[in-house]
Amino acid sequence: MITLINCKYLVTLNSDLDIFKNYSLIIKEDKILDILPQANAKKKYQNITNIINFDKHAVMPGLINAHTHLPATFMRGYADDLPLETWLRKKIWPVENKIMCSEFIYESSVYSICEMLLNGITCFNDMFFFSKDIAKAANDCNVRANIGTHVFDYPTPWVEDPDLYIKQGIKTYNQYKNHKLISTSLNPHASYSVSDEMFIKVRNEAEKYNLKICCHLHETKKEVRKSLKQYGMRPVERLNKLGVLNSNFQAVHMTQWKDDEIELFKAKDIKVIHCPESNLKLASGICPTQKLLRHGITVGIGTDGAASNNDLDILLEMRTASLLAKIYNQDPTSMPALEVLNMATINNAEVMGLEDKIGSLEVNKQADFIAIDMDNLNTQPLFDLTSQLIYSTNSYQVTDVFVAGNQLVKNRELALFSKDYLLGLANKWKERIKALSF
Ligand SMILES: [Zn+2]
Repeated sequence: MITLINCKYLVTLNSDLDIFKNYSLIIKEDKILDILPQANAKKKYQNITNIINFDKHAVMPGLINAHTHLPATFMRGYADDLPLETWLRKKIWPVENKIMCSEFIYESSVYSICEMLLNGITCFNDMFFFSKDIAKAANDCNVRANIGTHVFDYPTPWVEDPDLYIKQGIKTYNQYKNHKLISTSLNPHASYSVSDEMFIKVRNEAEKYNLKICCHLHETKKEVRKSLKQYGMRPVERLNKLGVLNSNFQAVHMTQWKDDEIELFKAKDIKVIHCPESNLKLASGICPTQKLLRHGITVGIGTDGAASNNDLDILLEMRTASLLAKIYNQDPTSMPALEVLNMATINNAEVMGLEDKIGSLEVNKQADFIAIDMDNLNTQPLFDLTSQLIYSTNSYQVTDVFVAGNQLVKNRELALFSKDYLLGLANKWKERIKALSF
């Protein structure tokens, strides 16, 4: 089956950053077979089975959300305007401990994936407990994902013995190791919640199975101070001594830096995931993205969980990242539109080790792409497409979403789940959380 996608604008984000006008994508099964001018497409391909016209749209690579905690979505708005530790320990964790079960995790994950699809997100990098239920939700939604298993030093409703986190993570790995769209990783929660012994166990298992490790790191000044007091060194130095840091390591947040840490990240090709809205809302600090990119460090971008953001909208996150860098550097040329667009596409693909498959629209890559209707008052007149995408496009302008050639959103309607079903889930769990009354 060959599908012809006619695009008014085609934003490739290939190495030449080509933006074509009146071009076509030729899709064969899950891959991009060709990219060529519309005028030539029908002549070259006579066996086309399906034609889709995006005649007022920008077609671009599917957006990637490099840091999520999907089940947190059903705690959106439950506890806001609090410091990170109080928010986690007094509000979020007590609810999670009471409410977490397979049913909650699966249903909140399906809901979150649907919300992300409507926002043009075709791939995400999650970390949470109950990874098998999140992986099942991703599989049932036909979306691309990495499912990371949380590792802590203490028990939770999911496991009684902390060693079982890693065992569960490896079980999920074994179940999905040959899956077309789903990969898995081991994700120690943070430097303050995981011991040296546990970090070493994670390192050994990740090496054995060639898995990524994703960890919240240097999120706040307080975390660094605490580590200096407890271990006599900063978390990055400690993890480096434990042999955890390498090109498979993803450090989420990183608002605190010393110059030698920048050199270390560059030398070891350690990835950084920037979550600007979560950092702003929890007043955690600011990641110096522009400086890191100038030093050749791969910096991706994620929303974090919807309990601390409070949305799963990468278009908004990109705008925030750009504006935040400008004020942080006192320089309006910081993080220009194209650089931030790269962060949510090809950089995020590199962070996840998927740059050969996704992150740009190129022949032989996977057919993960979205169409954005630019014929709205807020995106006209159209002088510069990338500028418009970052500074004035809203996610409701995403009309169509494809993952591996499958159309998952068509004209703003989800292919697999009804809005009524999803709203019913949100309401059901809101009532159950309210009944816990923390
Ligand atoms: Zn997080």
